[in-house]
Amino acid sequence: MVKPFVPQLVYVEPKALDYPLGQELVTKFENMGIEIRQTTSHNQIRNLPGDNHFQKYRVAKSTLVVGLRKTLKFDTSKPSAEYAIPFATGCMGHCHYCYLQTTMGSKPYIRTYVNTEEIFEAAEAYMEERAPEITRFEASCTSDIVGIDHLTHTLKRAIEFFGKTEHGQLRFVTKFAHVDHLLDAEHNGRTRFRFSINDDYIIKYFEPGTSRLHERIEAAAKVAKAGYPLGFIVAPIYLHEGWKTGYYEMFEKLEAMLPEKAKKDLTFEMIQHRFTKPAKRVIEKNYPMTKLELDESKRKWKWGRYGIGKYVYKDEEQADIKTTLHGYIQELFPAAKVEYFT
Ligand code: SF4
Repeated sequence: MVKPFVPQLVYVEPKALDYPLGQELVTKFENMGIEIRQTTSHNQIRNLPGDNHFQKYRVAKSTLVVGLRKTLKFDTSKPSAEYAIPFATGCMGHCHYCYLQTTMGSKPYIRTYVNTEEIFEAAEAYMEERAPEITRFEASCTSDIVGIDHLTHTLKRAIEFFGKTEHGQLRFVTKFAHVDHLLDAEHNGRTRFRFSINDDYIIKYFEPGTSRLHERIEAAAKVAKAGYPLGFIVAPIYLHEGWKTGYYEMFEKLEAMLPEKAKKDLTFEMIQHRFTKPAKRVIEKNYPMTKLELDESKRKWKWGRYGIGKYVYKDEEQADIKTTLHGYIQELFPAAKVEYFT
């Protein structure tokens, strides 16, 4: 079982101490006996412990920076929401295919932002712009926010903030099962709590440092009992020997462990595995022993964002994935909604 994350090293930006959450976190980490260093800005962080890239990368993944979110302009977040809401960046997990490896480049440490009120104000303005339309905010575009929230409770505040709004909804996704502190949050049904799930083979070989499937499903059951709308992202869907059996077993476990009520309002999002050439280079550097299949010749090339082509499965494989997994969902969760396959 993966224990709740505890940083090995903490950096604090001086301005963070002007905010109650900044002070609270520093006191908490001092009491936990964690080494705390000052930094004028996260960009100035140099000399992380470690003799080589491999070691430094691992230290960075367990380093937490307590700082401020300076850009309060939110990115868009299609297809799952209108905007990405930034509460944290980075993640302590070690999923071999994680998109953060390329987006965070040489700065893989985790950052938590303590100016939450300013972030909420910005969200308020975005909601007003679109009202009376609902505006959905995705909180997990740049991190696995649940994975650090037992320390910061930022997400809990966000859930309660959106619980009070008229036109806002919050969504996020996690591979972590440490959800107990979120169960009593006053969500008022305005937060969709999603878990990222995969079959046992994929979690075992490619998702070190995250909660196992049965732990995520147990957490999902608790979340459902707490009345949250629930969803699952099956991602990345990855073809390996026995994948059909693997995914069927995953859905069967889910069906067996979820309360009946939750099955009536369930969403599934499905994302096939893809990679870009830059991502392949980073993965091979950070996880040199990976079994992840990254052979361009076995894939179909597709235009991606920023003009960087991505490698997805070939058309007939995509059709097979779609029919197979849709079939499983229809059989086991007839009332669920599949939001998209990409
Ligand atoms: Fe990346 Fe999510 Fe894995 Fe964290 S849990 S390393 S954000 S894929």
